[in-house]
Amino acid sequence: MDHFDLCIIGAGVAGLAVAEEFSATMPSSFSILLVEQNERFGQETSSRNSEVIHAGIYYPPGSLKAALCVEGRELLYAYCTRHVIAHRKLGKLIVSQDDEVGYLETLFRNAAANGVASLRWLSSVDVLAMEPLVKASAALYSPDSGIVDSHGLMLSLLNRAQAAGVLYAPRTRVLKMEASAKHFTIDAACGHGKDAEEYVFTAARVVNAAGLQACALAQRISGLDQCTVPAMQISKGNYFRYAAPAPFTHLVYPVPEKDQRGLGIHATVDLGGQVKFGPDVDLDSAQDYHVDPARRALFAEAIRRYFPSVQEASLVPDYAGLRPRLASPAGTVADFAIQDASVHRLPGLVQLYGIESPGLTASLAIAKHVRSRTDFL
Ligand SMILES: Cc1cc2nc3c(=O)[nH]c(=O)nc-3n(C[C@H](O)[C@H](O)[C@H](O)COP(=O)(O)OP(=O)(O)OC[C@H]3O[C@@H](n4cnc5c(N)ncnc54)[C@H](O)[C@@H]3O)c2cc1C
Repeated sequence: MDHFDLCIIGAGVAGLAVAEEFSATMPSSFSILLVEQNERFGQETSSRNSEVIHAGIYYPPGSLKAALCVEGRELLYAYCTRHVIAHRKLGKLIVSQDDEVGYLETLFRNAAANGVASLRWLSSVDVLAMEPLVKASAALYSPDSGIVDSHGLMLSLLNRAQAAGVLYAPRTRVLKMEASAKHFTIDAACGHGKDAEEYVFTAARVVNAAGLQACALAQRISGLDQCTVPAMQISKGNYFRYAAPAPFTHLVYPVPEKDQRGLGIHATVDLGGQVKFGPDVDLDSAQDYHVDPARRALFAEAIRRYFPSVQEASLVPDYAGLRPRLASPAGTVADFAIQDASVHRLPGLVQLYGIESPGLTASLAIAKHVRSRTDFL
C-alpha cells in the first residue's frame, strides 16, 4: 500500500498554499500527496470570490481571521511581487451615509486594534475628488486593500509545489478515513462515475482543506471525536457585473451590514478595470451557483445609496459563491476554526473549517499556521 508523510485533501487556495509551504520547508524525502476531487484545482470557492486582498479592518480583534488576514495580506503582496502574479494595491473606500458615521468610527477603532494603522478619514469633498460618482457623508480610505489574480496565484502555488516534489492527484475524491495509532488509512475514488477506481493508501499526517465539504469529510473520519466537528451554515453570495463604462477606480464598500452577516453589496474593480457588485447574503435561494436575475432590483436599491446614478438595466447576473461559514450565535462573526490534536486528540491531523472570507487573503498565513502546529514538526 502506498504511504505518504502528508496528505492534503482539497486543492483550493488553502490546500495549495499548505502544499507549497510544506514542500518549500521540508526535506525532499518528505512525501506529500495533494488530492482534489474535481478535474482541476480551485474550481469551488477559490474561483468564486471577489479576489480582494483585504486589509484586516472588520474582524474581531484576537480572532484568527484578524491575525491571519493581516499577516496573510503582507505575505500575499510579497509573494505576488516575487513570483509576478497580477495584482494591484488600488485602495478601498468605505463610505457612510448621514446616519452611519458612528459605524465608521467603530470600524476605525477595530482596524487599529487589528494592527491596521493605515486608514485615513475622508470628507464628502475628498470622496468626490477620488470617486466623482460616489455619494458619502464621510469615508475611510484603506490604501492597503487591493486585488489579485486568484487563478494565477493558485497556478503558481501548484507549480512550485510540484517542482518541489508534491504529487498532485486531481479527480481523486477522499471518501473516508480511519485513524490508528500509526497513521491514517484513506479510502479514495479516482475518476468519476462507473470508471471510478478505489485507491486505498496511508498517510502519517492529514490536512483537511476540503472547503465546503470539510465538516462532512470530518464526519467520515473514524476515530475522530465527532463532538469537535462544528456545524456549517452555508451562505450564498451573488454577483452582478456592471455592463456600462466602469464608474470607479477604487474598491467602494458601504458600511457593513449591522447584523454582521456581510460587508454590504460593494463594488469591486477587477484587473481589467471592469466593475462588479456583490456579493449579497442570500439565505433564500438554493445552494447552487445560479444567479437569479430577479435579485437585480434588490442590488440596485442597495447600490443607489452610495452610487445614485447606477443604471439598473446595466446590472447583469454574473456568478455566485458559497461561503463555508460556521454557525455562530446571532450578531456575532464566525471565526476560522483550525483544529489540531490539542482539540481533537488525533496527532497528525489538522482540520481547516470555516475558511470563508478573508481566506484568499489569509491563505499563505493559514499555510504557515498549519506548518507550525507542533505535531507537524
Ligand atoms: C462570495 C465570496 C466572496 C469572497 N471574497 C473574498 C475576497 O474578496 N477576499 C478573500 O480574501 N476571500 C474571499 N472569499 C473567501 C475565499 O474565497 C475562501 O476563503 C477560499 O477560497 C477558501 O479556499 P479553500 O481552499 O479553503 O476552499 P475551496 O476553494 O472550496 O477548496 C476546497 C477544495 O477541496 C476539494 N474537496 C472537497 N472535498 C473533497 C474530497 N472529499 N476529496 C478531495 N477533494 C475535495 C474541493 O473540490 C475544492 O477544490 C470569498 C468567499 C466567497 C464565498
